[in-house]
Amino acid sequence: MDFSFTEEQKQIKALAKEFCQREADLKRFEEIAAKTFEARTVEALRAVFPYDLLEKLHQVGLRQLSIPQKYGGTAPETDVNVTLTMAAEEVGYWGGRIVDPLMIPWLFLRGIATNMYVTEEQRQWIFSKFIENPRLVIATSVGEPAGGTDIHLPYDEGGGSILKVTAYKDGNEWVINGDKTFCSNGGTADFIMLAARTDKKAPVSRAMTFFWVPTDAPGITLTPNRMLTLEFGGNCQTHYDNVRVPESNLIGEVNKGFSVIESFFEAHLPGVSGSVGSMQRIYEQMREYAKQRIGGGKPIIEHTSIASKLGEMAVNLEALRSLLYRGAWEIDQVERAGGRALGESNWFWFTAGYAFFKQVSWRFCELATDIYGGMSASVDLPLGDFLKHIFYIRAAGLTVDVELIRASRDYDTRYREG
Ligand SMILES: Cc1cc2nc3c(=O)[nH]c(=O)nc-3n(C[C@H](O)[C@H](O)[C@H](O)COP(=O)(O)OP(=O)(O)OC[C@H]3O[C@@H](n4cnc5c(N)ncnc54)[C@H](O)[C@@H]3O)c2cc1C
Repeated sequence: MDFSFTEEQKQIKALAKEFCQREADLKRFEEIAAKTFEARTVEALRAVFPYDLLEKLHQVGLRQLSIPQKYGGTAPETDVNVTLTMAAEEVGYWGGRIVDPLMIPWLFLRGIATNMYVTEEQRQWIFSKFIENPRLVIATSVGEPAGGTDIHLPYDEGGGSILKVTAYKDGNEWVINGDKTFCSNGGTADFIMLAARTDKKAPVSRAMTFFWVPTDAPGITLTPNRMLTLEFGGNCQTHYDNVRVPESNLIGEVNKGFSVIESFFEAHLPGVSGSVGSMQRIYEQMREYAKQRIGGGKPIIEHTSIASKLGEMAVNLEALRSLLYRGAWEIDQVERAGGRALGESNWFWFTAGYAFFKQVSWRFCELATDIYGGMSASVDLPLGDFLKHIFYIRAAGLTVDVELIRASRDYDTRYREG
């Protein structure tokens, strides 16, 4: 076992740190977050979005870190998942919210780069747009007002009742109708990766197709959701009324969209490692606080009630980090071997990593609140903001229950296969 990073990874780590130390303007991020929270229209969301930050991230090569070099990206030739997991952790530690605008492109464009049904032409289509325009924003939209879990699980017995947004072919175009919700980045996105039903009756895993939908297409209405806290870019409901997209906007093959979702989630581990970086930083600050703060005539860290809380947090953090990196490494090995075989699922590492992250981060906030006492509620400390962020991540994506259901299925298969 070798836990060291390669020279290339160390350079990327150093670049991420240096960039964040230069560009992390916490006051500005707070203002953007507050204005994003107040924004009621797409125009208002766009007016506060930090496009300049995207351009700077692009200039140093971080924005395009998940895109293979042959398409103009900066991804290393191998070990991309470990590299992104490490880079996200570093950005989360030094740059806090700088990690936000990186995550959707890192996770989802990696899925596009690796999915077996996505053609070279389709990859060129989006990667060239993304590389040529450093201000381009993308989003993904699967969840619907009637429910998101059954689409992702998938609940295949539901047949045509699961996934209600539809797309039908008309000549050389696809026509999209229906409603989606909770689309992160929806307010600022130029293109949304939309999951639509392209077979009226088949179970969702065999009826879904992804399309790139330009957000300025006639027939789209985007309405910002009012959320407790937001990524930069807002979170939107989207209504599609006979929205037409050309055949070239297809992602992968018709009715093979579930495989695209699987590729998206396989690439998802960096999505929480940014928060591991933030937790590490909070932990370090809190430990210092516990050394300074006096209670019962001595630094509170000398009370076993405080020391054992810090110990529990440290153990959980390391266990979480180990699981995330192990998962990223496993996925890298599959990619090295030429990719996932047809019909094979590689979800265990994603579901296990996310479920464990959500449990550990929730407990982390609970313990940190008790250690800081009244100070935990102060806006001068990062804990309150982080707590909202953890609540947000826990609510986004699959629930812990569903992640664990999927983890148990996939782990069982792995165990039987030896
Ligand atoms: C902050 C945030 C950001 C988001 N960003 C995006 C995004 O960018 N793109 C996107 O597509 N979606 C996004 N979502 C939507 C998210 O993916 C869904 O909220 C999620 O899939 C759960 O769906 P739901 O909210 O409809 O809950 P439901 O599906 O209604 O589930 C409710 C409860 O029932 C349980 N449940 C439901 N069905 C089953 C089942 N078959 N078996 C066992 N338990 C079940 C669930 O575990 C949960 O506990 C976001 C959500 C949030 C909150």
